[in-house]
Amino acid sequence: MKMIMRENWQFPMNLQRKSNHLNSIILGIESTAHTAGVGIITSEGKILSNQRSMYIPEEGGIHPREAARHHSDTFPVLFDKAFKEASLKPSEISLVSYARGPGLGPCLRTGATAARAFAYSHGIPLIGVNHCVAHLEIGLLEGATDPVLLYLSGANTQVIAYASEKYRVFGETIDIGIGNGLDKFAREAGMGFPGGPKIEKLAKGPKLLDLPYSVKGMDMAFSGLMTAAKSKLDSGHSIETVTYSLQENAFAMSCEVAERALAHTGKTELVLGGGVACNERLREMATIMTEERGVKCFIPSKDLCVDNGVMIGWLGYRMVKGNYKITEEDNKVHQKYRTDMVEVTWR
Ligand code: AMP
Ligand code: MG
Repeated sequence: MKMIMRENWQFPMNLQRKSNHLNSIILGIESTAHTAGVGIITSEGKILSNQRSMYIPEEGGIHPREAARHHSDTFPVLFDKAFKEASLKPSEISLVSYARGPGLGPCLRTGATAARAFAYSHGIPLIGVNHCVAHLEIGLLEGATDPVLLYLSGANTQVIAYASEKYRVFGETIDIGIGNGLDKFAREAGMGFPGGPKIEKLAKGPKLLDLPYSVKGMDMAFSGLMTAAKSKLDSGHSIETVTYSLQENAFAMSCEVAERALAHTGKTELVLGGGVACNERLREMATIMTEERGVKCFIPSKDLCVDNGVMIGWLGYRMVKGNYKITEEDNKVHQKYRTDMVEVTWR
């Protein structure tokens, strides 16, 4: 690969035109937390490949540096698999999009480095996008036009919708993310990581225990719920009953806030996103709530709900197509890149 010296390097603004081609093919790179993802999608929304690899810690939570090492080890394999599956050559890519935040610093930098190396060595324009907005905009590929997003992932728990040139956060967790909460409970109960799917398998009831239900205005809190669930387990309730009660409370809280955001904004579409949105009970609750309100519910396939490169590529394409101007900022990662910091110029 030809090295580009930093001091000689000029931001390739002129290359922006290349990505406006009708049949563009976009490469999306995800690395904000535990998942390294490489996706390839066309400007028509056809997914050509969605390669992912998740870092699973041997014990405890995610260690950012270890996760970043996992990503740098797996990116070459993921790139290779993606290009093989899509039957493409790197030169056929017209835009590289990567998640510049929010996320864990070392993980973000690994993804950004992979994105820059690929883009610059092939002379392709590079755009940095917001990970949370990507979870919402992949819902547009499913047919939504102006949805409320219920975004339930490991670190993030937000209810997001568009209003006045920004994606606004209508409600969010005021302590831990719902997924991290489920993972913490599961870890303490000896189930290992990731906890969400293990909890889902066990959550059979039959009893619904009295656990904290913490909706504060439009915000939610999950920490007390997880601690209370663990004490119920310690005091002799069955794991089936505790996990069932935990899910019922956590998901009802999330759906309540999403429903209020729908009522407040008058929007008529809900999109689910984030790893926790893989949960069948959550999907069922959201479906019931939206049916009762006469609102459409868009539930992306599980490999598009979890962190993935396809959604990053799709958002990058939508931004460029909508005349977003790539700047030097797109080169930089931003650990605390909040949803409502993004100027939505492309809608
Ligand atoms: P993300 O950060 O969006 O990739 O999502 C990862 C989180 O989703 C982790 O906290 C997982 O425990 C959680 N998760 C994955 N599958 C499920 C599931 N079926 N039910 C509940 N949580 C899940
Ligand atoms: Mg996510």
